[in-house]
Amino acid sequence: MKLFVSNYASQHKFARFDVQRRVRISRGKDRLERFDTSVIELAPSRRLLEHYRRGDMDENEYALKYWEEVDPVWRLAVGRLRDGDCLLCFCPVGSPCHRLLVAARLRKEGHQVIEI
Ligand SMILES: [Zn+2]
Repeated sequence: MKLFVSNYASQHKFARFDVQRRVRISRGKDRLERFDTSVIELAPSRRLLEHYRRGDMDENEYALKYWEEVDPVWRLAVGRLRDGDCLLCFCPVGSPCHRLLVAARLRKEGHQVIEI
C-alpha cells in the first residue's frame, strides 16, 4: 500500500498528494472534524501520552510502551487501512510521535509511507 502520515493542521498540503482518506489515529478528536474515519487502535492510551508529555520517559521508553499497547492489535489495525490513507494526529511535523513509529513499522512491512 501507499500511505501517508501527517497532522490535522497540514491538510492544505494534501491536494498535492493523492490522499484518499483522512484517518484519525489520535485519542483526541480534531475539533474541526478533519478526518473521514478512525483507526483508534493505533493511538497511544491517554495515560501513556500524559506520561510522555510530562517528560517521565524518553523517546525510546515511549516507543517500547507504545508497542506494548499496540502490538496485540497491530494486524487488526493495519487490516483496516487502505491504499491512499493518510494517518493523522495532532503533533507538529518533525516531533517524535507515534505516527512516525507507525510509519517506520509499515515501511519495514513493505509499504510505502510518505510524510506530509
Ligand atoms: Zn502524534
